[in-house]
Amino acid sequence: MTITPNRVRAFSHREHEYHQEGAHRPHRSEHTVQFYETDEFLVRSLGRFIREGLETGESCIVVATGAHHQRVETYLLAQGVDLHPASKQGAYLALDAEETLSAFMVAGSPDPARFTSIIGDIIERAAARGHPVRVFGEMVALLWMDGNQAAAIELERLWNDLRDNPYPFALFCAYAMGGFVGNKYSAAFAEICRQHSSVIPDENYTTLGSEEERQRAVTLLQQKASSLEKEVAERKAVEDQLRVALAAQRQLEERKNAFISMASHELKTPITSLKGFTQVLRQRLQTQADPQTLLFLDRMDVQLKKLTNLISDLLDISKMQTGMLAFRETIFDLDELVRETVENVQAAITTHHIRLRGETQAQIAGDRDRLGQVLINLLTNAIKYSPRAETVIVRLRSYDGQAEVSVQDFGIGIDREQCERIFEQFYQVADPVHTYPGLGIGLYIAHTIIERHGGRLWVESEKGAGSTFYCTLPLLKNGSVASSSCEQRESHNATRREKMKRENRADE
Ligand code: ADP
Repeated sequence: MTITPNRVRAFSHREHEYHQEGAHRPHRSEHTVQFYETDEFLVRSLGRFIREGLETGESCIVVATGAHHQRVETYLLAQGVDLHPASKQGAYLALDAEETLSAFMVAGSPDPARFTSIIGDIIERAAARGHPVRVFGEMVALLWMDGNQAAAIELERLWNDLRDNPYPFALFCAYAMGGFVGNKYSAAFAEICRQHSSVIPDENYTTLGSEEERQRAVTLLQQKASSLEKEVAERKAVEDQLRVALAAQRQLEERKNAFISMASHELKTPITSLKGFTQVLRQRLQTQADPQTLLFLDRMDVQLKKLTNLISDLLDISKMQTGMLAFRETIFDLDELVRETVENVQAAITTHHIRLRGETQAQIAGDRDRLGQVLINLLTNAIKYSPRAETVIVRLRSYDGQAEVSVQDFGIGIDREQCERIFEQFYQVADPVHTYPGLGIGLYIAHTIIERHGGRLWVESEKGAGSTFYCTLPLLKNGSVASSSCEQRESHNATRREKMKRENRADE
């Protein structure tokens, strides 16, 4: 907001009057707005407004929050003004702002007919004393602070219309300046000012004593306003540049994803034919019983399966990034899945012994294959990163509505600072001595899969002492198990049939 010096100068005379005890005489049809920074200032201002009214025999109506009523009463009492006698004589009427507001608000807007009837009636009764009426109203400020700016402006209009009734009254509104901070309020702020015949700036300006001080304050405000305008323009320019840069980065990201997806698809075809040829070769060589050649073929198979896994991981990652990774949800027995997976991985390795402990007795709703993929990843990592150990322990348990599977190894471990980062895409812990094969995407995929199932995946580890990866999944509620439909069961069976066809990923 830019405050023009003209406008400020126009306020200054009135405000100067306001601060001279007893000098303020609101005109009968005046609609004044006071902005304030602190409640203390509002209470003093309102107290003065009431005291002046009572001293000149006017009828005062104060529609304020409970807290403000209390504070202004205390303030006036300290000034020697007791509101109770005035209240008894009908010269002072205190109304609760929220209660009064709710009496005429309909569907978030002040209802004109209700407002005129309720507030008009109150003013008419006050005017019946035969003295001028002055009103302090805080309902507009409540609406404003509530974020209902349109209703606040509408209510200001209704007050203005009401002031044209046969009992004109002076109306005093107050808004906390804090409710107008930000460029987005500029237009509404100007509209609020427009709805008032007199605008009083907050205490930063109005507490200044002399004209000279006020002129200085205006000059400072002008300087601040133009600096702020410049700053806002500069920030906007930077924001625009940032937006362009972000769009370019997004485009690059999209191209990278498209490339990964295309490259993985392209790689799949030659690998499928290589697999076919190795199978044909195996059949032909089987009869010749050449053990050495068959061993080479086995090794080729292992390498081909490794390649297949890498490609399918790459495909998964590109699907995740484009939100295309589909899940086939079924209800299944978690213990059975873990047992099966452990057996399959164990069958493919001779270096480690995988021990399975405990059980969850849990039924899980989710994509069985994808969850199996997570466990395979944790197990193959446990084996890969514990080359000198011989044991991996898988533990199962259920607690607090969730099933937990943990995989513990006694390998190289992970630094505490890196325990979070290993779940990031392409992140690998640098090892100065050994190099371990991999792309740093397995855990990212696993984490995403578990999160998509409403679970958690994390690691507790100590460098050199091994790691334990924990994975929790929400247990299926009893009702859901009972209502498990045929469709779901059929889908489960279909998934299992498909799974049997799929290649076992743990072929190392
Ligand atoms: P990678 O293909 O490199 O194994 P992952 O995403 O599975 O990719 O793992 C990311 C990184 O986390 C690994 O490169 C490794 O540094 C670390 N890591 C994963 N599992 C273990 C583990 N059991 N022990 C030690 N470090 C591990």
